[in-house]
Amino acid sequence: MDSNIKQEKCKFCGENVPSYNTIYLSSEKKLTCSCIKCYNKRLAEYSDTDFEHVEFEPIILKDTESVEHKFYFTVQHLGDRVGIESFEIKDGHPGGYEFSIIGDIDNEIFKLFGKLFERMRRALSRKHLQRSDTTNSWRISKGNVVRAKIDSNLESNDDYGHQPLIVIDGKEIKWDEFGRMLMTYEGFNFKLEIFDRSDEIP
Ligand SMILES: [Zn+2]
Repeated sequence: MDSNIKQEKCKFCGENVPSYNTIYLSSEKKLTCSCIKCYNKRLAEYSDTDFEHVEFEPIILKDTESVEHKFYFTVQHLGDRVGIESFEIKDGHPGGYEFSIIGDIDNEIFKLFGKLFERMRRALSRKHLQRSDTTNSWRISKGNVVRAKIDSNLESNDDYGHQPLIVIDGKEIKWDEFGRMLMTYEGFNFKLEIFDRSDEIP
Protein backbone atom coordinates (compact mmCIF):
# COMPACT_ATOMS: atom_id res chain seq x y z
CA MET A 1 0.00 0.00 0.00
CA ASP A 2 1.35 3.42 -0.91
CA SER A 3 2.40 5.17 2.26
CA ASN A 4 0.96 8.61 1.42
CA ILE A 5 -2.61 7.30 1.18
CA LYS A 6 -4.54 8.28 4.28
CA GLN A 7 -6.03 5.37 6.26
CA GLU A 8 -9.31 5.39 8.14
CA LYS A 9 -10.86 2.95 10.54
CA CYS A 10 -14.13 1.24 9.62
CA LYS A 11 -16.60 1.40 12.51
CA PHE A 12 -18.18 -1.90 11.46
CA CYS A 13 -15.27 -4.31 10.97
CA GLY A 14 -12.60 -2.25 12.77
CA GLU A 15 -10.13 -2.54 9.91
CA ASN A 16 -7.92 0.30 8.73
CA VAL A 17 -8.62 0.95 5.07
CA PRO A 18 -7.48 3.63 2.59
CA SER A 19 -9.78 6.67 2.82
CA TYR A 20 -10.82 6.34 -0.85
CA ASN A 21 -12.30 2.97 0.16
CA THR A 22 -14.64 4.43 2.78
CA ILE A 23 -18.12 5.89 2.84
CA TYR A 24 -19.51 8.17 5.51
CA LEU A 25 -23.00 7.25 6.63
CA SER A 26 -25.00 9.95 8.33
CA SER A 27 -27.50 9.23 11.06
CA GLU A 28 -28.86 11.55 13.70
CA LYS A 29 -26.21 14.26 13.65
CA LYS A 30 -23.23 11.96 13.46
CA LEU A 31 -21.17 10.54 10.65
CA THR A 32 -20.02 6.94 10.75
CA CYS A 33 -17.11 5.70 8.67
CA SER A 34 -17.74 2.44 6.84
CA CYS A 35 -15.38 0.61 4.51
CA ILE A 36 -16.92 -0.14 1.12
CA LYS A 37 -16.84 -3.87 1.82
CA CYS A 38 -19.05 -3.48 4.93
CA TYR A 39 -21.23 -0.94 3.14
CA ASN A 40 -21.76 -3.31 0.19
CA LYS A 41 -22.54 -6.19 2.51
CA ARG A 42 -25.16 -4.19 4.40
CA LEU A 43 -26.73 -2.86 1.22
CA ALA A 44 -26.87 -6.35 -0.30
CA GLU A 45 -28.69 -7.59 2.81
CA TYR A 46 -30.97 -4.57 2.86
CA SER A 47 -31.87 -4.80 -0.84
CA ASP A 48 -31.89 -8.61 -0.73
CA THR A 49 -29.52 -8.89 -3.68
CA ASP A 50 -27.02 -11.61 -4.32
CA PHE A 51 -23.83 -9.62 -4.29
CA GLU A 52 -20.31 -10.66 -3.57
CA HIS A 53 -17.84 -7.89 -2.83
CA VAL A 54 -14.80 -7.89 -5.12
CA GLU A 55 -11.56 -5.98 -4.73
CA PHE A 56 -9.44 -5.26 -7.78
CA GLU A 57 -5.70 -4.82 -7.36
CA PRO A 58 -4.16 -1.60 -8.70
CA ILE A 59 -2.92 -1.75 -12.29
CA ILE A 60 -0.47 0.36 -14.27
CA LEU A 61 -1.26 1.68 -17.74
CA LYS A 62 0.97 3.77 -19.99
CA ASP A 63 -0.19 6.85 -21.87
CA THR A 64 0.87 7.92 -25.38
CA GLU A 65 4.17 9.24 -24.00
CA SER A 66 4.90 5.99 -22.11
CA VAL A 67 4.26 7.71 -18.78
CA GLU A 68 2.98 5.17 -16.26
CA HIS A 69 -0.34 5.75 -14.48
CA LYS A 70 -1.27 3.61 -11.50
CA PHE A 71 -4.98 3.03 -11.16
CA TYR A 72 -6.86 2.06 -8.00
CA PHE A 73 -10.37 0.64 -8.02
CA THR A 74 -13.44 0.70 -5.84
CA VAL A 75 -16.60 -1.35 -6.34
CA GLN A 76 -19.81 -0.01 -4.89
CA HIS A 77 -23.24 -1.55 -4.54
CA LEU A 78 -25.81 1.04 -5.67
CA GLY A 79 -29.04 -0.76 -4.81
CA ASP A 80 -30.17 -2.23 -8.12
CA ARG A 81 -26.91 -1.34 -9.87
CA VAL A 82 -23.19 -1.63 -9.28
CA GLY A 83 -20.52 0.99 -9.92
CA ILE A 84 -16.78 0.66 -10.43
CA GLU A 85 -14.52 3.67 -10.08
CA SER A 86 -10.91 3.83 -11.17
CA PHE A 87 -8.58 6.68 -10.34
CA GLU A 88 -5.01 7.71 -9.75
CA ILE A 89 -3.81 8.97 -6.40
CA LYS A 90 -2.38 12.49 -6.18
CA ASP A 91 -1.22 13.83 -2.81
CA GLY A 92 -2.92 10.92 -1.05
CA HIS A 93 -6.32 11.49 -2.68
CA PRO A 94 -8.05 10.40 -5.90
CA GLY A 95 -6.91 12.69 -8.71
CA GLY A 96 -5.52 12.72 -12.23
CA TYR A 97 -7.27 10.29 -14.56
CA GLU A 98 -10.60 9.11 -13.17
CA PHE A 99 -13.13 6.75 -14.68
CA SER A 100 -16.50 5.46 -13.63
CA ILE A 101 -18.87 2.84 -14.95
CA ILE A 102 -22.30 1.66 -13.79
CA GLY A 103 -23.88 -1.66 -14.67
CA ASP A 104 -26.68 -3.99 -13.79
CA ILE A 105 -26.27 -5.71 -10.41
CA ASP A 106 -27.04 -9.08 -11.97
CA ASN A 107 -24.32 -8.78 -14.58
CA GLU A 108 -20.98 -10.38 -14.13
CA ILE A 109 -18.77 -7.84 -12.32
CA PHE A 110 -15.69 -8.92 -14.30
CA LYS A 111 -17.49 -8.11 -17.55
CA LEU A 112 -18.17 -4.61 -16.25
CA PHE A 113 -14.55 -4.34 -15.16
CA GLY A 114 -13.48 -5.39 -18.67
CA LYS A 115 -15.62 -2.63 -20.18
CA LEU A 116 -14.11 -0.07 -17.82
CA PHE A 117 -10.61 -1.30 -18.58
CA GLU A 118 -11.15 -0.91 -22.34
CA ARG A 119 -12.51 2.58 -21.74
CA MET A 120 -9.40 3.47 -19.72
CA ARG A 121 -7.10 2.15 -22.44
CA ARG A 122 -8.93 4.14 -25.11
CA ALA A 123 -8.71 7.30 -22.99
CA LEU A 124 -4.99 6.87 -22.34
CA SER A 125 -4.32 6.39 -26.03
CA ARG A 126 -5.80 9.82 -26.72
CA LYS A 127 -3.94 13.05 -26.23
CA HIS A 128 -5.59 16.45 -26.09
CA LEU A 129 -2.74 18.60 -24.86
CA GLN A 130 0.70 19.29 -26.15
CA ARG A 131 3.49 21.29 -24.63
CA SER A 132 4.41 24.50 -26.41
CA ASP A 133 8.16 25.12 -26.21
CA THR A 134 7.79 28.80 -27.12
CA THR A 135 5.36 29.69 -24.34
CA ASN A 136 6.32 26.81 -21.99
CA SER A 137 2.65 26.05 -21.43
CA TRP A 138 0.04 23.53 -22.52
CA ARG A 139 -1.97 24.04 -25.66
CA ILE A 140 -4.80 22.13 -27.29
CA SER A 141 -3.35 19.61 -29.73
CA LYS A 142 -4.12 19.43 -33.45
CA GLY A 143 -7.44 17.59 -33.20
CA ASN A 144 -9.03 20.75 -31.69
CA VAL A 145 -11.01 18.59 -29.26
CA VAL A 146 -10.78 18.51 -25.48
CA ARG A 147 -12.30 15.77 -23.35
CA ALA A 148 -12.06 16.65 -19.69
CA LYS A 149 -13.39 16.35 -16.21
CA ILE A 150 -14.77 19.38 -14.39
CA ASP A 151 -13.26 19.44 -10.94
CA SER A 152 -13.11 22.07 -8.24
CA ASN A 153 -10.04 24.14 -7.44
CA LEU A 154 -10.07 24.03 -3.65
CA GLU A 155 -7.19 26.50 -3.48
CA SER A 156 -9.23 29.24 -5.16
CA ASN A 157 -11.54 31.24 -2.95
CA ASP A 158 -13.79 33.56 -4.91
CA ASP A 159 -16.91 35.15 -3.40
CA TYR A 160 -19.17 32.81 -5.36
CA GLY A 161 -17.25 29.61 -4.49
CA HIS A 162 -14.36 27.67 -5.94
CA GLN A 163 -13.18 28.01 -9.51
CA PRO A 164 -13.32 25.03 -11.84
CA LEU A 165 -10.28 22.85 -12.23
CA ILE A 166 -10.20 21.09 -15.58
CA VAL A 167 -8.59 17.66 -15.72
CA ILE A 168 -7.33 16.93 -19.25
CA ASP A 169 -5.14 13.91 -20.06
CA GLY A 170 -4.94 13.34 -16.29
CA LYS A 171 -3.39 16.80 -15.81
CA GLU A 172 -4.95 19.47 -13.65
CA ILE A 173 -5.39 22.71 -15.60
CA LYS A 174 -6.46 25.84 -13.74
CA TRP A 175 -9.40 27.79 -15.12
CA ASP A 176 -7.24 30.79 -16.10
CA GLU A 177 -4.76 28.53 -17.83
CA PHE A 178 -7.58 26.85 -19.74
CA GLY A 179 -8.81 30.31 -20.75
CA ARG A 180 -5.36 31.19 -22.09
CA MET A 181 -5.32 27.95 -24.06
CA LEU A 182 -8.59 28.95 -25.73
CA MET A 183 -7.13 32.28 -26.83
CA THR A 184 -5.25 30.45 -29.56
CA TYR A 185 -8.72 30.18 -31.10
CA GLU A 186 -9.85 33.78 -30.62
CA GLY A 187 -12.68 34.50 -33.06
CA PHE A 188 -13.55 30.81 -33.53
CA ASN A 189 -16.72 29.14 -32.24
CA PHE A 190 -16.94 26.11 -30.04
CA LYS A 191 -19.45 23.61 -28.64
CA LEU A 192 -19.49 22.48 -25.02
CA GLU A 193 -21.30 19.26 -24.20
CA ILE A 194 -21.68 17.77 -20.73
CA PHE A 195 -21.65 14.00 -20.05
CA ASP A 196 -22.50 11.98 -16.99
CA ARG A 197 -19.37 10.88 -15.15
CA SER A 198 -20.15 7.21 -15.76
CA ASP A 199 -20.54 7.71 -19.55
CA GLU A 200 -17.69 7.42 -22.00
CA ILE A 201 -17.12 10.66 -23.91
CA PRO A 202 -17.31 9.83 -27.62
ZN1 LIG B 1 -15.52 -2.54 7.34
